[in-house]
Amino acid sequence: MEIIRVANAQEGGKKAFEIIKEGMTKGVKVLGLATGSTPETLYAELRGSDLDFSNMTSINLDEYVGLDENDAQSYRTFMKENLFNAKPFKESYVPNGKAEDINAETKRYDTIIAENPIDIQILGIGQNGHIGFNEPGTPFDSHTHLVELTESTINANKRFFDKVEDVPTQAISMGIASINTAKEIILMAYGESKADAIQAMVNGPVTEEMPASSLQNHVNVVVIVDEAAASKL
Ligand code: PGA
Repeated sequence: MEIIRVANAQEGGKKAFEIIKEGMTKGVKVLGLATGSTPETLYAELRGSDLDFSNMTSINLDEYVGLDENDAQSYRTFMKENLFNAKPFKESYVPNGKAEDINAETKRYDTIIAENPIDIQILGIGQNGHIGFNEPGTPFDSHTHLVELTESTINANKRFFDKVEDVPTQAISMGIASINTAKEIILMAYGESKADAIQAMVNGPVTEEMPASSLQNHVNVVVIVDEAAASKL
C-alpha cells in the first residue's frame, strides 16, 4: 500500500482528484464510487473541475434496503447531489434498495461489475474496518450481497436521519471480492476515529475480522490519510 499523508480532507480530496484525472488521461473508463462524509471533498473537486464523465461509467458500492432511489437519504440521492447532477456519467449504477427480489438484484449487480471492470475504486473506511457495508466477519470471497448492518454502523449513520429508528437495518453491498477486482483502489480516511482501523488495515493481520485488511493483498492501493487518521501507524 502506498500511504499519502495530507494536512486535511481538502488536501486529501485534491490528491484523489489528481489520481483520477491522471488515470482518465490513460484510459480510465469506470469509476467505483462511495458515499459518506469522506469522499465529499473529492466530489467537490470533481464538480469544480473541467473533467467530462459523459463517456464514463460509475458503479456505487452500496445502497440501503427499503429506501426508494428518490428518498432524501438514499445513496442514489447523495450521489446526485454530490456529483451526478453537476457531472453526469454515461451510466451510473447504484444497487436498487427497493428491488422486490434482493437476491436477483445482487446477481444483476455482479453482472454489471463483470461487464464494466472497475478501473479506480474510491473507498472510505468504517471505524470497525468495514469497506462498503462489509462488516467484520464478511468472507473475503464475497460478491454483492444483502447485509445486516451492525449497531456501530447504524449509530455512525444516524446523524443523517431524524431518529435512529429511521436508519435502515439492511443494505445491498458489493462484497470484498467485488471491491478487490478494481484495478486501483483509493482509500481515504480523516480524523482520529479512523486511526485504529487504519492501523489495523495497514499493519495488522489479514483477517476477515478486519475487512479492510484484505487490501493488503491488492497490488495497487493508495491510502490517503490526515495526521489524525495516521496517528497510530
Ligand atoms: P464516513 O463513512 O465517510 O461517513 O466516515 C465511511 C464508511 O463508513 O465507510
